[in-house]
Amino acid sequence: MARVAFIGLGNMGGGMAANLAKKGHDVRAFDLSAEALERAKAAGCLPVESAEAACDGAEAIITMLPAGKHVEQVYGESIFAAAPPAAILIDCSTIDVATAKRVGEAAQAKGLAMVDAPVSGGIAAANAGTLTFMAGGTSEAFARAEPFLSGMGRAVIHAGGSGAGQAAKICNNMILGAEMIATCEAFRLAEKLGLDQQKFFDIASVSSGQSWSMTSYCPVPGVGPETPADRQYQGGFATGLMLKDLRLAMEAAASVNANTPMGAKAAELYGAFVEAGNAGLDFSAIIKTL
Ligand code: NAD
Repeated sequence: MARVAFIGLGNMGGGMAANLAKKGHDVRAFDLSAEALERAKAAGCLPVESAEAACDGAEAIITMLPAGKHVEQVYGESIFAAAPPAAILIDCSTIDVATAKRVGEAAQAKGLAMVDAPVSGGIAAANAGTLTFMAGGTSEAFARAEPFLSGMGRAVIHAGGSGAGQAAKICNNMILGAEMIATCEAFRLAEKLGLDQQKFFDIASVSSGQSWSMTSYCPVPGVGPETPADRQYQGGFATGLMLKDLRLAMEAAASVNANTPMGAKAAELYGAFVEAGNAGLDFSAIIKTL
């Protein structure tokens, strides 16, 4: 078992660090929040007073931070200076592709191996250790990161070079955003056309309209498996985070001149929904606007 630094113990990082501790790793945990540190301690991690202290003697350094600016700051100001030369650096945050590449290149320039390894799956998957990781970096860096990622998830895929993990993540979530809105629209239209919601689910979930948003995450309460719709859209994947990912996708699309009209419309609709004060609701709650 290894000594692991874990920085960023929020909704996602808390469960991920706990799973590594459960697997027997010596997890040195750091977060700016005292409450998050307390939770990490209760989950079997050793809370430390700084990112630098977490990195001391670490074989793997894992970060799970809100956005690109936090990643750039924590790596630039703390990790690059404190990481042992043999440590593998793993950023699991969802951030913009450009920052991921920049931080990856800065690590390489310092002789440190790094992967960007964002996740698919929400807080429940982070707690259960069933996340999907999509990683960007060299094959050698990926091979070194893989055992740690496997300790926190059930699928770990090498997407390509530095930044490829973030690219895969935002492309996936762009599908999800547009697909959820299309699913919500179809249920609303079916209802107005006099179709029973359960009947429509039974038909579409085994027909060509089938999607993850329908069969695993149905936005209609009481239809399909239990989802946030059955809990007044509490928990799940927050609308604010969906909007963040769609905006990252639009930023990336603009940077390579890609044409993404459905993604742009989804970003616009989720933007309006967040504006109306719904950032904290699960993203399937957008059905309420239709
Ligand atoms: P969160 O806000 O709950 O956690 C982030 C943590 O980072 C906080 O505890 C914060 O105190 C800490 N932090 C911020 N700056 C720091 C610093 N300089 N040093 C140390 N700690 C610092 O966010 P989250 O929901 O855990 O999400 C983390 C990342 O995972 C985000 O990039 C998000 O987009 C991505 N993500 C989230 C979900 C989800 O369902 N919540 C799903 C997939 C991906």
